[in-house]
Amino acid sequence: MSKALLEVKNLKKYFPIAKGVLGKSKESVKAVDDVSFVINKGEAFGLVGESGSGKTTIGKTILRMNDKTAGKVLFNGEDVHKLSKKELQKLRPKMQYIFQDPYSSLDPRMRIGDAIGEPLLQHGLATPENVREKVEEVLVLCGLAPYHIDRFPHEFSGGQRQRIVIARAMALEPDFIVADEPVSALDVSIQAQIINLFSDLKEKRGLSYLFISHDLSVVEHLCNRIAIMYLGTIVELADRDELFNNPLHPYTKALLSAIPIPDPTLKRNRIILKGDIPSPANPPSGCRFHTRCPYATEKCTIEVPQFKKVIEGHEVACHLV
Ligand code: SF4
Repeated sequence: MSKALLEVKNLKKYFPIAKGVLGKSKESVKAVDDVSFVINKGEAFGLVGESGSGKTTIGKTILRMNDKTAGKVLFNGEDVHKLSKKELQKLRPKMQYIFQDPYSSLDPRMRIGDAIGEPLLQHGLATPENVREKVEEVLVLCGLAPYHIDRFPHEFSGGQRQRIVIARAMALEPDFIVADEPVSALDVSIQAQIINLFSDLKEKRGLSYLFISHDLSVVEHLCNRIAIMYLGTIVELADRDELFNNPLHPYTKALLSAIPIPDPTLKRNRIILKGDIPSPANPPSGCRFHTRCPYATEKCTIEVPQFKKVIEGHEVACHLV
C-alpha cells in the first residue's frame, strides 16, 4: 500500500465579499467547502471541474499561497499552515506550482539560464560554479537542448515555454507538483507531448501530482485517481478506470459525455447541462448540483447528499446512488 504524501482534511477556503467603504460584509464566497482527499507517493491525482468550481483555490491553499479558513493540509505528516516562515521556505522547493499560462510565467527579459538558475542558487541547490551544468541537465530532462540556456522566452513556442516552466520546477528536485491547467493554453497537437513529459517525469523521479483540469480527457492518461469538483465540493472520487467505466454522479456523466470519440462511426449521447455554474457566494440549498441536474427531486433541493463509499476506492455524493 502506498504511503500518503499529502493529506487534505476538511479544507475550507472562504473569501470575504467586500461591501464598499461603509463596513465589512458578513457574506463570503465559499470557494472550497469541506474538501478531503489523500495523494500517495508517486501518484498523479486529477482534480476536474468547470471553471469556478474551486480547483485552483485548493491548489494554492495546499501550497499556502492562500491562507485556509479551516481544515488541515499535511505534507509528509507536517501541517503546512502551521509552519514558521523559515520552515515554509525550506519546504518550498519540495512543493512546486505550475501555472496554466507559459507566456506570463516567464519574465521576458530573463534568459532561460537565469530563470531556472536563480531559484537554484537561492535555495542553495547549486553553486555559481556548477549552476550552468545543472540547468543544462534539467533542460535536457524536459526535452529541450543545452544551447537553449542563453535564449529568451520569446524565442520559444508555447509548448517549449511550458517545458521551460516545468524544467524550472524540476530543477528544485520537488516531491510534489500542483499542475494547474498546464496544457489548456496549448494547441491540441502539443498537449499530448506535454502530458507525456509529465508522465515520464513521474516515472523517472517518482513525483506526485495534483493535476487540475476542466477537461476529463486531459487527466485520463496521466492520473491514477480522479476527483470531480462542483461548486467548492468533491462530488465523486474514484480510480481512473473505475470512474471512466462506472461513473455514478450525474455531473461526472455529463463531463464524460462531452469527451469526443475518435471513431466517427460511434456516437456518444451528449448530456447538455442547463445553465451556468451558480455563484459560490450563494450556493443552492441541498445538493449544490440540483439546479442543473436532470434527475433532481424535491429531496435534492432540501437535503445535502452525504459523500459515501460505494465500493472500495469509489465515493460519491448523490441521493440516487
Ligand atoms: Fe442530482 Fe439529486 Fe444526485 Fe444532486 S443528489 S446529483 S440533484 S440526483
